[in-house]
Amino acid sequence: MSESTPAFAVDQSPDRIWPLRGEFVEPALEQDFRASTLSRVLPQQRAGLVLWAALMVVFAVPDYLALGAVPNFWILAAYRGVFALLLLGAAEAFKRRPNLALQGYVLVGLALLGYSFFFLLYGLRPDIRAFNTGAIMVIQVMLFLFVPVRVAMAAPVALFGAIGATLSVWATTADASVKVGTAFLVALPAVLGYAAALRQQKTERLEFLLRRQLLDANRELKDEVVRRVALQGELERQAFTDLLTGLPNRRALAERFATESARAQRRSEPLSLAMFDLDHFKRVNDTHGHAGGDAVLRGVGEVCARSFRGADMAARVGGEEFAVLLPDVDLQRAGTVLQRFNDLLAATPAMVGDQAVAVTATAGVAQHQPGEDLNALMARADAAMYAGKQAGRNRVVLVPADAAPAPS
Ligand code: GH3
Ligand code: MG
Ligand code: MG
Repeated sequence: MSESTPAFAVDQSPDRIWPLRGEFVEPALEQDFRASTLSRVLPQQRAGLVLWAALMVVFAVPDYLALGAVPNFWILAAYRGVFALLLLGAAEAFKRRPNLALQGYVLVGLALLGYSFFFLLYGLRPDIRAFNTGAIMVIQVMLFLFVPVRVAMAAPVALFGAIGATLSVWATTADASVKVGTAFLVALPAVLGYAAALRQQKTERLEFLLRRQLLDANRELKDEVVRRVALQGELERQAFTDLLTGLPNRRALAERFATESARAQRRSEPLSLAMFDLDHFKRVNDTHGHAGGDAVLRGVGEVCARSFRGADMAARVGGEEFAVLLPDVDLQRAGTVLQRFNDLLAATPAMVGDQAVAVTATAGVAQHQPGEDLNALMARADAAMYAGKQAGRNRVVLVPADAAPAPS
């Protein structure tokens, strides 16, 4: 069995997505992906920044309760105030320049400052060392959620946090178990956060590719439908057209007759039909060959196209036999129209090579009777045409209105 690719499989190979960065290798694709996350990521980041600023300010209260208005308190309070303003400034800047949020650099800078604050706390508030470590642990995890589409950027920051926290504790305590324990506690959530975020990033990007493929497939499908509709239209046109003359064919005539006879009956309007057959056409073929005969038939088609109104339909219904449907035209008027056509035809020779070949036609005309079908109407017109042939050709013969219907 041959190996087949499922229709919507996505290429997951490492040359598509960096294995440890979880980003697309192709920069333009990565750019597109990040832009597609903007509407989701931007409000999240802005809300996060505002919340972070609020927490920075609120925790000045326990600082004060623990320390009182001593210089250490004021150092922390100043850091808190400036940092909160920076956070709010970033939230505002992201609104104006969303690209800042997508690139992640601003968040990285803020995270570095945020960590530094906690390193400072280890020195200035040794009383809450355990709480401090807990807060850093939370931040290690939050970081990967907070810079949601760029694990490559969050990972070094988390490493900075882990190393900085460890060094701060090592500098402020002599207790070996606290030193080692802290190092372990701040490193572990960073590793877990990284692993979880990496997997999520890859999944998001694969979904993005899948969505794109679906959209592309959908677009191709739509194009295909348009092509097919056009093709179908062309096929239908061909099915209703005589290829030699370009005139409507018998099938087209039948369709048109169905509409026109119904309309005529509904509105009590006349409807006439003429059948005409070229005179001595065998001679044309004998003299000029079959191709010459074809050229003459094409010429007849052109005269038809020029002679009849838009509402009329001239169709080629046989070898050199034609029918003309004339809606809202009574028998007498149809006779006049056909006579004019015959005159024009006789006066319009077709060019066969360098020879002008004129043909005449003999026509029979009948007016539609209520309930009469196309075959019956054509048969009556045909009978008149043959009468015309017998009477000497190149003429128009009307079927009298009160004539009995031709036997069918
Ligand atoms: P009449 O005046 O009695 O109609 O004489 P006619 O020679 O036209 O006789 P008829 O209508 O019976 O013959 C039609 C001839 O038209 C026979 C056939 O060879 C020729 N013909 C039919 N279809 C085509 C066509 O598509 N191309 C060409 N070149 N000739 C055709
Ligand atoms: Mg014939
Ligand atoms: Mg003929």
